[in-house]
Amino acid sequence: MTPSTDLNLPLFERAKRVIPGGVNSPVRAFRAVGGTPRFVKRAEGAYFWDANDQRYIDYIGSWGPMILGHGHPAVLEAVQKAALDGFSFGAPTEREIELAEEILGLMPSMDMVRLVSSGTEAGMSAIRLARGATGRSKLIKFEGCYHGHADALLVKAGSGLATFGTSTSAGVPPEVVQHTLVLEFNNIAQLEEAFAVHGRELACLMIEPIAGNMNFVRASVPFMKRCRELCTEYGALLILDEVMTGFRVALGSAQSVYAQSIPGFKPDITVLGKVIGGGMPLAAFGAPRAIMEHLAPLGGVYQAGTLSGNPVATACGLTTLREIRKPGFFEALSARTQSLVDGLRAAAAAEGVAFSADCQGGMFGFFLLPELPQNYAKVMTSDSPRFNRLFHGLLDRGVYIAPALYEAGFVSGAHTEADIAETVAAARAVFKELAAG
Ligand code: PMP
Repeated sequence: MTPSTDLNLPLFERAKRVIPGGVNSPVRAFRAVGGTPRFVKRAEGAYFWDANDQRYIDYIGSWGPMILGHGHPAVLEAVQKAALDGFSFGAPTEREIELAEEILGLMPSMDMVRLVSSGTEAGMSAIRLARGATGRSKLIKFEGCYHGHADALLVKAGSGLATFGTSTSAGVPPEVVQHTLVLEFNNIAQLEEAFAVHGRELACLMIEPIAGNMNFVRASVPFMKRCRELCTEYGALLILDEVMTGFRVALGSAQSVYAQSIPGFKPDITVLGKVIGGGMPLAAFGAPRAIMEHLAPLGGVYQAGTLSGNPVATACGLTTLREIRKPGFFEALSARTQSLVDGLRAAAAAEGVAFSADCQGGMFGFFLLPELPQNYAKVMTSDSPRFNRLFHGLLDRGVYIAPALYEAGFVSGAHTEADIAETVAAARAVFKELAAG
């Protein structure tokens, strides 16, 4: 495709005139990798087609929600039916109860859940709830974890432990982030020190259990265990941000994966999004009853939303969850994801390219590094020009992965072995080019 015939290009130019950067969420703009974003015309199953009617195997799946692939027949039917009954009422519906019951049935750490419209909203509300429930202000987050763009969470590490973080965005006053302590992921010594100094003032510790916003970095089991123990000891609430991992890495989400190694492991508050909406704007946060009763209208922590529990979104999410809990769904999804990761590893090894990869359920990550990194600083030692060549090499061959080296990838129930084989063959061709220098 030459620039003169690429129909994505005029769309991008037009978009840039009316939308900042041409996109409604920054990473879509291809700023990290360069080139022209693909403007999607339509999607079906594991594929989408761009403005040139070029087909791509989609490993982003709307950044996680499309776990059944695009246009799953049961989901389409439920959404169409719900739309005919009305788009939004601003009054309760039975389907909200059904979705809440469905989520709680799959996630025993919570007794109650509140539905909202985005992961950002859910994360922001979870922090307010934690602060309201504990009467404390400070919070811990980890470098490389993203919890949405609430002011208090757009923070990077300060110069030392005793100093709190500095904002990563213009427009966030220093006073707003003065209570946010940013620590290194998987660093137990630093975590213990932070609790020793600030433990009694901490409302919560918020963490992505498998961090998908620095590609794919697991919290080590000892680290997660220590997070849990220290929160309990100091009376801070452990918030697991499972917006990405929820119903994606296992039917019981990441918390069920950690509970296999840490007996009795449970978060205090869970934040959900993405898969629970099946591609519609829907997210949630939940906790045991004693915590959730702090929320309005029962308690003093205010939280609300005009479109919360939207009837079309709940139909989409409910049907998605009912499909993924069918026997065998997760086993097949996990096996397919594993075969992708194994195939990519073998292709890189065959071409002599340093490579490491990991996956859990339908989520994966890979690095052009010989070993899996354990924290953000290590992730960022990746060679980004090489990643960009890999990205564009795959894109040219009809394979769409995240346009930044610090993002995870997603396989859906619609990806076939043939799709995986095509992807691995494309990757091998690109690895060959990388090996040639
Ligand atoms: N938390 C995590 C772990 C996420 O990955 C994201 C989005 N990628 C968010 C929160 C924010 O969700 P949203 O984009 O729906 O606001």
